[in-house]
Amino acid sequence: MIYPWQADDWNRLQQLRDHWPHALLLHGQAGIGKLRFAQHLAQGLLCEDRRDNGEPCGACVACNWFTQGNHPDYRIVVPEALAAEAGIGNGADEKAEKADGDEGKKTRAPSKEIKIEQIRGLLDFVGVGSHRGGARVVVLAPAEALNIAAANALLKTLEEPPAGVVFLMVSARIDRLLPTIISRCRQWPMSLPAPQVSTQWLAAQGVAEAPALLAEAGGAPLTALALASDENRTLRDWTLKQLAAGPECDAFACGEALQKLPVPLVLGWLQRWMYDLLAQRTAGAPRYFPQASAALTRCASQADASAFARFMRAVTRQRAVENHPLNARLVFEELFLGYRELFA
Ligand SMILES: [Zn+2]
Repeated sequence: MIYPWQADDWNRLQQLRDHWPHALLLHGQAGIGKLRFAQHLAQGLLCEDRRDNGEPCGACVACNWFTQGNHPDYRIVVPEALAAEAGIGNGADEKAEKADGDEGKKTRAPSKEIKIEQIRGLLDFVGVGSHRGGARVVVLAPAEALNIAAANALLKTLEEPPAGVVFLMVSARIDRLLPTIISRCRQWPMSLPAPQVSTQWLAAQGVAEAPALLAEAGGAPLTALALASDENRTLRDWTLKQLAAGPECDAFACGEALQKLPVPLVLGWLQRWMYDLLAQRTAGAPRYFPQASAALTRCASQADASAFARFMRAVTRQRAVENHPLNARLVFEELFLGYRELFA
């Protein structure tokens, strides 16, 4: 199923059906369900009894194979890390890895890149004819995860696509794609859903405080849903209170309380808070934490403007090294001390 805010995109896309592009690039902000949309589109293309509006029937043999993850004319290519997270099987690769035993897996983190081996496997698939006499469909997400070798390997196929093969590419960062990849695809921008549609949907998922979470998620409903069940939510709220305290922020308590958390997570909170603080100073409206607008106004009026820019740079610098093994406690202490000095 697609999400309720995607019905319009779905219907407009069906108008392409007579001249379906061999590569479609669905792009838009992260957290709006582009991957699920692409998967549903793939099922619609493979379904052998599809509805007039392109909806898969959900009952034919092709649909059954698809939902079980073993349609012979379908491939999904995602980075290892995403496959593990979203429970997406990579077919043959996964079986091979299981046969290797678990030892190798534990010693390295799952890759966030789409690697050339994955694209080579894909080219084998693309080179063989259709098993069902219909389309062969490839979903690839996110396209910005293609490393340079993989992107170049894919490019050749996009330039001379075999008949009957459809690529559905998904990207949240189209600016990171090779221009040559983009130019081979039909671009399809997917916009952020209207806030009231997202809020309604979040409420139906049992999310309390939907408007606040949606704001913090930059308007992306799936990101907001993830925030709602975030195990670190209590600590995040506590941290926001510390930031709201401005000159009273207890940097050492922050170091102590947050040291077990991933550095990038906390830096993300800090960056969003600073973004809102800056917006407040320049007479804009807070984007991520509108519910804290009183505290933001108070902090913004107390802070030293020139120190602001310096502190923002320090946070950004820290982000650049965020994956290095650091002493998180010291990093946080230093950052929160720097934050408190804004008000000195
Ligand atoms: Zn079907």
